[in-house]
Amino acid sequence: MREYDIVVIGGGLAGLMAAAAATKRGKKVTLLSLGSGTLTIGGGIVDVMGYLEGGIPAATPSAGLLQVGEGHPYKKIGRPAIEESIRFFKEICEQEGYSYIGNLDKTQWIPTAAGTLKPTCLVPKTMDTTELKKADKVTVLGFDALKDFYPSLIAKNFKKIPAFAQKEYEVVMVDPKLSEGRDVTALDVARWLDTEEGLASCIEKMRNVIDSGSVVIIPPVLGTRPDYAVKEKLEKALGCHFIETASVPPSITGLRLRTMLVRYLKKNGVRIVEQAIVAKSIVEDGKCVAVITEGVDRERTYYAKSFILANGGFYGGGLLAEPGKVIEPIFNLPVEAPTDHELWANYSLFSSEAQPFAKLGLDVDEKMRPLDANGKVLLNNVYVAGRNLRGYDFSFEKSGNGVAIASGYQAAMSV
Ligand SMILES: Cc1cc2nc3c(=O)[nH]c(=O)nc-3n(C[C@H](O)[C@H](O)[C@H](O)COP(=O)(O)OP(=O)(O)OC[C@H]3O[C@@H](n4cnc5c(N)ncnc54)[C@H](O)[C@@H]3O)c2cc1C
Repeated sequence: MREYDIVVIGGGLAGLMAAAAATKRGKKVTLLSLGSGTLTIGGGIVDVMGYLEGGIPAATPSAGLLQVGEGHPYKKIGRPAIEESIRFFKEICEQEGYSYIGNLDKTQWIPTAAGTLKPTCLVPKTMDTTELKKADKVTVLGFDALKDFYPSLIAKNFKKIPAFAQKEYEVVMVDPKLSEGRDVTALDVARWLDTEEGLASCIEKMRNVIDSGSVVIIPPVLGTRPDYAVKEKLEKALGCHFIETASVPPSITGLRLRTMLVRYLKKNGVRIVEQAIVAKSIVEDGKCVAVITEGVDRERTYYAKSFILANGGFYGGGLLAEPGKVIEPIFNLPVEAPTDHELWANYSLFSSEAQPFAKLGLDVDEKMRPLDANGKVLLNNVYVAGRNLRGYDFSFEKSGNGVAIASGYQAAMSV
């Protein structure tokens, strides 16, 4: 029987960060994951706290952290560990040659594909808006047949934002000739730019439509690899500044981040088992002894001293909704939820309040161990991280990847 120090369940950002922090402590780690999680649809930017209750923008992520209520995961994790986790995340990015910019004391307002601005905390350098803010004239560049990215909508909506209203906008298109009768995704364009020929061809096409010195808003397509080679080559060849918007699914920035973190984990000796569906656990005397994966061939049992449960929320598969109740399927941990389904959702689409269902999840102590309704620790060697935590609405607050990083880190540090 092979026993690990830690088995991490889930390969989203929370699980990847938990595994990274565990290796930093010299632990022997296995990560079991069914899929890639929300990173590859959601985006590789790190929101920490963008909006307060009532939809009021937080002055800075730091200011937002001060305002969270008692039940919020950030409150349990505490400010020192949140800061440490962000520092650790940035350290990994730097070390892997894909550094992120930003800090807790500044909100970064980044352009979205809808031509609005979104508050966030950490972004890859491809989303640095320094030159965009300074520019009098902005070029918005689209690709023919690319789904979900409409340059003229961006230009039109930017004109409505006071800080951007005085700027002049030009919309230009490049045809990557990738469509062959179908829609083109950001992944198609990014893969095209990954190749020497694709990049050279794109540079020639861009040369015809943009002037040297331009500040260019572009969809997130500047290569799939976690580095800045495509951005640097384009900027050098054309003498322009390129700024990627926030992601449209499939998320290339999330893919880059995931590739980088998986590479980091492998270098640091983490065993990663992909397409592993953890179905059951073996619990004895208030401790988890092992988890069991099910596959097409046979079940496998993974023994460890500790387990980090980072398998996401309703989307990821970590929480299951049934009429009147929410189920955590691996340990059968309790999830408090109104039995009346009507109370789960706020039916006003553009409400200034968070969605009740989004806040459903597992209650934990400050070490991230699961609690029962009376606040008693249920399993001594199981720690919870990420989207399955109770008490926050990532979408409303703009806090998703921040909670994933901080709780993954805290879980690994508590083991
Ligand atoms: C459309 C969208 C856009 C978003 N945009 C942003 C953004 O711009 N900025 C931001 O900060 N946040 C954003 N978020 C939120 C953010 O993506 C998530 O809050 C965060 O990444 C959650 O990470 P996680 O690891 O907890 O969960 P997930 O990413 O859901 O990962 C869960 C992991 O567990 C695995 N898993 C599930 N069940 C099992 C099982 N039984 N056995 C083994 N593995 C299992 C899944 O395959 C997956 O790997 C967005 C989310 C969505 C949905």
